Amino acid sequence: MHQPRYESPWANDEVRMFRRSVRQFVEKEFAPHQARWREARAPDAAAWTAAGRAGLLLADLPEDYGGGGGNFAHEAVVLEELARAGVHFGCAIQSTVAHYILAYGTEEQKRKWLPRLARGERVAAIAMTEPGAGSDLQAIKTSARRDGEHYVVNGSKTFITNAARADLVCLAVKTDAKVTGMRGISLLVVETTELAGYRVGRALEKIGMHGQDTCELFFDEVRVPAANLLGGVEGRGFAQMMEQLPYERLQIAVGAVASAEQAVALTTRYVKERKAFGKPLFDQQNTRFKLAECSAQAHIGRVFLDSCIVRFLAGQLEEASTAIAKYWLTETQCRIIDECVQLHGGYGYMSEYPIARMWADSRVQRIYAGSNEIMKELIAWSL
Ligand SMILES: Cc1cc2nc3c(=O)[nH]c(=O)nc-3n(C[C@H](O)[C@H](O)[C@H](O)COP(=O)(O)OP(=O)(O)OC[C@H]3O[C@@H](n4cnc5c(N)ncnc54)[C@H](O)[C@@H]3O)c2cc1C
Repeated sequence: MHQPRYESPWANDEVRMFRRSVRQFVEKEFAPHQARWREARAPDAAAWTAAGRAGLLLADLPEDYGGGGGNFAHEAVVLEELARAGVHFGCAIQSTVAHYILAYGTEEQKRKWLPRLARGERVAAIAMTEPGAGSDLQAIKTSARRDGEHYVVNGSKTFITNAARADLVCLAVKTDAKVTGMRGISLLVVETTELAGYRVGRALEKIGMHGQDTCELFFDEVRVPAANLLGGVEGRGFAQMMEQLPYERLQIAVGAVASAEQAVALTTRYVKERKAFGKPLFDQQNTRFKLAECSAQAHIGRVFLDSCIVRFLAGQLEEASTAIAKYWLTETQCRIIDECVQLHGGYGYMSEYPIARMWADSRVQRIYAGSNEIMKELIAWSL
């Protein structure tokens, strides 16, 4: 963190200790392999179990279900340390899916899936978006027709993170084709190993976040046990998504602030070393002013984010504040990183420089998990 005198109010000795061990793990086990992950367009398979052993997965789930027994502070630490190291690893999705199962799963579902997710023996994905339905989730078409003790799933999903290795997919489907809109939607937990009719498409070629896979999924008469319906009652999927999306948005806000802080830190180092006109770039007033602006924006973002985390920990964070956090902090992240690219000059446009990758990686933050336009709708509804 570039603000030495400020520490998040949710930190305590135990959280600090957890941060030290997560940082050590990420620097030693993940950071050195980033070039390979980027080339493969996905993390190493072994990264999942390693992350599980190191306590990075499901840090905020109860120990009873194999989780770390922590709270959102621990989850935030994991996301911050990954962002700080420039590592894109889908453990936020793993946590998100685990929270769906924790909130709505039957006891049997929780015991069956959560410990394996925590150990990284299973990789989770959440599949809502379709080629014809992103922001407008009510318009999804993937169907699940009941047939005895199974659902028969047909349709396709797109832009699904972790999909290449996912063996547990939390899938939004229409269980009632006759009902239009949200009431016909349910969530099915699909165990994909050797599942007939299930196919993962190619890894989509993105402009950033190359170390993490994003794929299409295809379902052709796929039989899923009816017992895998999340919560056991049809038609609750849309409400479940609306309840859980704020958690995902707060995760994104955490990553946004951490990566903005990291951009300021590494750009400060760069402009103090790089010389032009016989002196370090930092000696130019414009450079100092731009960095001061970036630093101020990152710090204001940090303080707002921390207030959201504290309220979230107390169970008092309302949806509009989560939407504000997701919207404003990701816009701020992109603004800061863009300014930092400028301060790097031509090197800021070279992929081998972290700031260039951060620029490309950060752009999607304003789009996924509910675009920032949708966030503004949510904020406006609260007015
Ligand atoms: C890298 C990446 C990873 C992703 N991971 C996942 C994942 O793991 N699981 C998953 O389910 N999805 C995932 N997504 C999908 C993502 O959530 C959607 O792309 C996003 O919700 C937007 O949907 P869309 O792409 O269909 O855009 P559209 O809904 O077509 O929107 C296009 C534009 O129109 C705007 N717009 C739409 N409706 C309104 C409105 N009412 N008012 C004003 N403006 C509006 C949007 O804000 C956007 O700017 C991922 C996407 C990317 C790029």
